[in-house]
Amino acid sequence: MEYRKLGRTDLEVSVLGYGASPLGNEFEEIDVLEGERAVHMAVDLGVNFFDTSPYYGRTLSEERLGRALGTRRKDIVLATKCGRYDIDKFDFSADRVRSSINESLRRLRTDYVDIYQMHDIEFVDREQVLDEALPVARELQRAGKCRYVGITGLPLGILRDVADRAEVDSILSYARYNLMADDLDTELRPFCAEKGIGLINASPLHLRILTERGAPPWHLASEEVKRVGEQMALLCRDRGVDISEVALKFCYDYPHTASVLVGMSKSRHVAQNLNTLTFERPEGLLEQIRELVEPVRNQVWPTGLPENQDPQ
Ligand code: NAD
Repeated sequence: MEYRKLGRTDLEVSVLGYGASPLGNEFEEIDVLEGERAVHMAVDLGVNFFDTSPYYGRTLSEERLGRALGTRRKDIVLATKCGRYDIDKFDFSADRVRSSINESLRRLRTDYVDIYQMHDIEFVDREQVLDEALPVARELQRAGKCRYVGITGLPLGILRDVADRAEVDSILSYARYNLMADDLDTELRPFCAEKGIGLINASPLHLRILTERGAPPWHLASEEVKRVGEQMALLCRDRGVDISEVALKFCYDYPHTASVLVGMSKSRHVAQNLNTLTFERPEGLLEQIRELVEPVRNQVWPTGLPENQDPQ
């Protein structure tokens, strides 16, 4: 396993990080015992970075991750979030950010988290994130309840703006650096490097588009993006490899994000995603993929308030 430093923090995180949203049934109803096995296997094999949120499974993911980790929590870097509680339920008020961490700590069976992240900030007035949520998160840091403070979301502009106007230690960006999109590299990476902000790359499989199974029914990408994903899977199959291996290795190889967070609830996926660290891509395949993707490259879906969207 390779470990990378997260920005200017003292955290060293595994390049393969464990995304715990599937533990909250976000993709499908899971086998809970198998989910625990997946967590144990990941820790055993050197995955030391785990990311969850009260939103995932409406607290189920935190609950299950906390139970699965047990005493092994001390061996890992644990990140959770606050502010998002349902599809359309957000609360970044000072009081809620304060109470949320206590609830998360109880479910996660720990007395601190390593990173406390403001979850999907594009859905709310950014001034509240700046005036209430982030200052309270720093207060919680001083109280020892979290070690570092981060923000997360899909549009890149608001992440950059908020991180420019307030001090944040890490930014979790999803679906903006993988085989389908790469604008994180131009829109966020140089800014983060200059500021010493740790970058975390989530959804390397584009929330399952870049897998043999394809997108889940609720996926917000356009039909065209999903169709291109299917063509990519077919192309990879023809070249004798699995699209998810190609997609993951592409993200591992990008040195500017400390960790690549993959959603996992199955031990076979943990094993496969670890093996992919040494995957060798067939010659010329990336070029063929790039050609297929070009018409839809960087086409993401709108989320959040209109004023928080990236200009198209
Ligand atoms: P992802 O792109 O990692 O895809 C996860 C899906 O792919 C799951 O259904 C999983 O079962 C499947 N999968 C994993 N490995 C596979 C393999 N080898 N072969 C086939 N299928 C495989 O999407 P994600 O889970 O949304 O993102 C990863 C993590 O990043 C999340 O769990 C979460 O922790 C974090 N995240 C955070 C935010 C945010 O803060 N706003 C947004 C997205 C993701």
